[in-house]
Amino acid sequence: MRDQWFQTSAKNHYQFCFLAIRIWKEKLPPRIQFFIWLLARDRISSNDALVRRGVLNYNQLACSYCAKVESNIHIVLHCSFAWRFWSLLLNKCNVIWVTPLSLQDFYTQWISLSAGRYRNLWKLFWFFGTWNLWKARNRRVFQDEMEDVHSLVFLSICKAVDFYRVHFHDFPFSGNGVFRCIDFFCNNSYYGHSMIS
Ligand SMILES: [Zn+2]
Repeated sequence: MRDQWFQTSAKNHYQFCFLAIRIWKEKLPPRIQFFIWLLARDRISSNDALVRRGVLNYNQLACSYCAKVESNIHIVLHCSFAWRFWSLLLNKCNVIWVTPLSLQDFYTQWISLSAGRYRNLWKLFWFFGTWNLWKARNRRVFQDEMEDVHSLVFLSICKAVDFYRVHFHDFPFSGNGVFRCIDFFCNNSYYGHSMIS
């Protein structure tokens, strides 16, 4: 198990994600932009990364939510908490999905779901959602607070819409309005109702 973890860990560690470059072209709050850059470079402080650096012991690898090995991609995608988060959002858009293996695949498939007028807003849902999953993880680990998935999705949408409206003053919807009809902003008709690689 330990040898297997070292092999998998080393492989993930060197996996390049194009988001590490592309992220600087996106309009985002600086703290989220920097976080995504770290995430794309596999540099956030997950238990897996801290064990690799010798900060935590090998027996502290487990995720505080699901007890599996907590890597970077685990926190924002492969953890059952993250899976429930993204599933709730995608189900509201009538999208059937299978969890992608890598951050790059996830982002690529996500943006493929919106080719229309609100493509930038759709991308913001992903950036704010990813950021809020990281913050929820930290509150769980450091403050012993358990986040409600529905509230976290709602918060992510509202924050994304607030940010979007700073740049698009004539955008007529509130965060609550977007949350209630989010399928309108997901142009999934072009690619069919699926996100399966
Ligand atoms: Zn987990």
